[in-house]
Amino acid sequence: MTWDLESDVIVVGFGAAGACAALEAAAAGARVLVLDRFGGGGATALSGGVVYAGGGTPQQQAAGVTDSAGAMFAYLSAEAGDVVSAATLRAFCDGSPAMLAWLERHGVPFEGSLCPDKTSYPTNRHYLYYSGSEQSLAAAVGAPPAPRGHRTHGRGTSGRVLYARLAAAVRASGATVLPQTRVEQLITDADGRVTGVAASSLRGAPRWARTAHRVLHRWSAKPYLYAPRLGRPMHRPVGWLERRYGRPLRAGARGGVVLAAGGFVANKAMLREHAPASRGGLPLGTPGDDGSGIRLGTAAGGATAFLDRVSLWRFLSPPPALIHGILVDRAGLRICDESRYGAAIGDAIVRRPGARAWLLVDDATLALARSQVRGTTLWFQRLQARYLLTRGRHRAATLDAVARRAGVDPAGLEATVAAHNAMAASGGPDPAGKPADQVRAQDQPPFSLIDFSVRPSVASPVPVLTLGGLVVAEDSGQVRRSDGGGVPGLYAAGRTAVGLCSRSYVSGLSLADCVFSGRRAGQHAAAAAAAAAPHPVTGS
Ligand SMILES: Cc1cc2nc3c(=O)[nH]c(=O)nc-3n(C[C@H](O)[C@H](O)[C@H](O)COP(=O)(O)OP(=O)(O)OC[C@H]3O[C@@H](n4cnc5c(N)ncnc54)[C@H](O)[C@@H]3O)c2cc1C
Repeated sequence: MTWDLESDVIVVGFGAAGACAALEAAAAGARVLVLDRFGGGGATALSGGVVYAGGGTPQQQAAGVTDSAGAMFAYLSAEAGDVVSAATLRAFCDGSPAMLAWLERHGVPFEGSLCPDKTSYPTNRHYLYYSGSEQSLAAAVGAPPAPRGHRTHGRGTSGRVLYARLAAAVRASGATVLPQTRVEQLITDADGRVTGVAASSLRGAPRWARTAHRVLHRWSAKPYLYAPRLGRPMHRPVGWLERRYGRPLRAGARGGVVLAAGGFVANKAMLREHAPASRGGLPLGTPGDDGSGIRLGTAAGGATAFLDRVSLWRFLSPPPALIHGILVDRAGLRICDESRYGAAIGDAIVRRPGARAWLLVDDATLALARSQVRGTTLWFQRLQARYLLTRGRHRAATLDAVARRAGVDPAGLEATVAAHNAMAASGGPDPAGKPADQVRAQDQPPFSLIDFSVRPSVASPVPVLTLGGLVVAEDSGQVRRSDGGGVPGLYAAGRTAVGLCSRSYVSGLSLADCVFSGRRAGQHAAAAAAAAAPHPVTGS
């Protein structure tokens, strides 16, 4: 086998996981080749840039927050369940301040300005916040809550800063980055060891075709995310350019291949098969999240898990006053603690008949919420909040009348509100677990029922993130077969793999897992390269 390019470690996909894998492999002395179908960045560059970290980070200390690895472990154990072993989760928590420091050393900025409100994403004034359900679950997990959402410092959705800094560090590390190169197959030797990849690359394509591919992909990224019906056709010529001008490229890797090609939220067939509840949702990703990384792994014998776990987001806050409301289903029954994280609320709603849900608020709560919109939202949150507080609600002078307008059972609603108000008057505790400082009686007419059903619409979309992927060994990131054995030479990280967030996502946990799992895979692939026979590598 002759290779067009040779290296020690190949990284497929240049988002957060791929960049972190490349950095660690290069730091260990490996020759690293990073291949990306587009220009790199993936979902990471579009993201909020929130990294889940705790246990006493400098940013927490600057904000006067007390936290410990034990408290972080107790909370994440409740969220993550048995998705990884307790030892791995504990190692993640123990190493959390060091992980953030590692990111900072590679140029990613964080800041300890604490957000006073419970929110889905803080405004440009704040960079540390409660990004999960820490306060709601504090009593249940028996550990004090702490804000652990470390938002990368930068205006707007600051994932682009996180990615830009990591990408610059990768280039400075000496790794070779080859964009516009789509990996289509893994190459194995006679023993089944992954020794390289077969790709289709635009590197020899006419200059105009490469420029068009780059520009059209970049232009369609935001429409694809926020208005997929517009973004999908805008992106179609990109695929055509790849088919028309892509040329075969074979690259060999002595140590191994790291699959870090994102998830499968852009693959309709995979979503239909594994997560039908996500139908019509807003894909939180790019067209690169077509499941190709996962499928490359399964074709080499890798096993998958948690593909049915998707994160469906239904945030009540911002504006934060809406957390004071009462979330009910069609029967008027309370659904859950309204202060929970948006994915936990989304999960609770899809379990109710028809995935229907309404938030009951009285006039005082509505007025407070309206007054908060401007100061507590960024543009994408503001659009949705304004819609929900105007056209997205039913309003009437009595509970009976508002229930009939919305199609909610009036008797059920009246009983739920009466019980809630009695609990509020007595000082709690709330049986659903809402913290006492968020509980308010809803007794000032007129009343509103705001529609929070998981029924995606243009005005009130339901973002969807896929969480499952290839099963990997927790000590190395090596891809596992269903019999428990490893696929030699193959590693996976980020949303291509099962990770810390694969059962239950809270903001920041996916990027934190990308850093954790990417670094692990890069270190082990580099170590395998160091232990491997010298070139030339062979493939079949
Ligand atoms: C709007 C939005 C906000 C979010 N906010 C947050 C947040 O604040 N915190 C958080 O933790 N998570 C957040 N997420 C989720 C998080 O961004 C992703 O889960 C995470 O970035 C995935 O990183 P990754 O490295 O696995 O994949 P990606 O960053 O998507 O990178 C994968 C790369 O692989 C490339 N690729 C795909 N297939 C191939 C192939 N066959 N060959 C070569 N290259 C390929 C793609 O082009 C892409 O560049 C958000 C997501 C979105 C969309």
